[in-house]
Amino acid sequence: MPAETVNRQWLLARRPRGQVRVEDFVRRDASLPQADLAAGEILVRNLMLGFDPAQRGWMDDAPSYLPPIAIGEPVRGSAAGRVIASANPAYPEGSMVRGLFGWQDYSVAARAGDPDPVAIPDGTALEEALGIFGAASLTAYVGIYDIGQLRAGDCVLVSGAAGAVGSVAVQISRLAGARVIGIAGGAEKCRWLVEDYGADAAIDYRNEDVRARLKALAPDGIDLFFDNVGGTTLEAGIAHIARFGRIVLCGAISGYNDLQGVPGPSNLTRLIPQRAGMRGFILLDHLDRVPAAMAALRQWVGSGQIRYRTDIQHGFDAIPKTFLRLFSGSNRGKQLLRIDGV
Ligand code: NDP
Repeated sequence: MPAETVNRQWLLARRPRGQVRVEDFVRRDASLPQADLAAGEILVRNLMLGFDPAQRGWMDDAPSYLPPIAIGEPVRGSAAGRVIASANPAYPEGSMVRGLFGWQDYSVAARAGDPDPVAIPDGTALEEALGIFGAASLTAYVGIYDIGQLRAGDCVLVSGAAGAVGSVAVQISRLAGARVIGIAGGAEKCRWLVEDYGADAAIDYRNEDVRARLKALAPDGIDLFFDNVGGTTLEAGIAHIARFGRIVLCGAISGYNDLQGVPGPSNLTRLIPQRAGMRGFILLDHLDRVPAAMAALRQWVGSGQIRYRTDIQHGFDAIPKTFLRLFSGSNRGKQLLRIDGV
């Protein structure tokens, strides 16, 4: 057990009303879990956090694929850290793990009913474990291959394309021989899309007419649309879907902070004459695909065929405002934070 007795935590203070704010969270210095670990449990010293737009949905009191975060609980979120006490031979003391350990210094993990923590192999940096080898890349892999049924020669559209999930979706589509159009906010991110991630074209949704650009760039329509954004972006993709096209609903970030909820696309019936399909998915249902996805990612990253960015902020006190970066587009790649003092 560590000498420290304080476990710093960021709790959900109240349910965000629309736009999430720093004031929706409160810091508490709790005491470190001192009781003996039950068989199978581990105590983790969190060293780095990973941020995901989905955390915003978990803050609402609404049915979803995970229960809402309770008011007064540490915010649920990805973290990576060192096992400092273990009652589980799969996670020996001193080994590194990642999981949904939350916004706190220390977490008891691998409790009965919890998802298994993921062991981080020697030689893999924490920013890689939470970044390019983390859930975002796995989501892109499952979404593009298994849900989207990517075919060589497809014209693929990816929204939120310069982010953690989107940039991998763009690159693995290109590697499979697709033609790829990415949508992102601002000239800088659009430049990364073409110059670093190999997209054939990029659309700056903040400064360009997405529908007009899609019409020009994909006159025969989009075969596979991997959507991270929802709202008017989804509507634009539906308007340009090709015959027998596939739309993969991965996320809908444009509506996560919208109090009223974003109105559904007004043009859904366009799917009928186009014989097109649309399907949502959640990575957690596809964990059997993780070994194949991880092997492929390691090979692509090792050979330089996939490039990535990580945006590392610093300091325990900066946790809430770092989370907010996702919703202003300030994050430059996978949003991470290194906890101070460790
Ligand atoms: P990103 O790294 O892409 O960061 C979020 C980005 O979203 C921002 O940088 C910004 O990019 C864009 N954005 C923010 N607000 C808006 C808005 N109002 N309209 C349009 N774009 C906006 O995040 P992730 O890659 O981690 O996540 C991408 C998506 O994938 C999310 O929707 C997330 O919920 C989803 N997801 C789904 C999973 C699943 O199992 N289905 C698993 C993991 C993630 P820009 O500057 O280009 O606007």
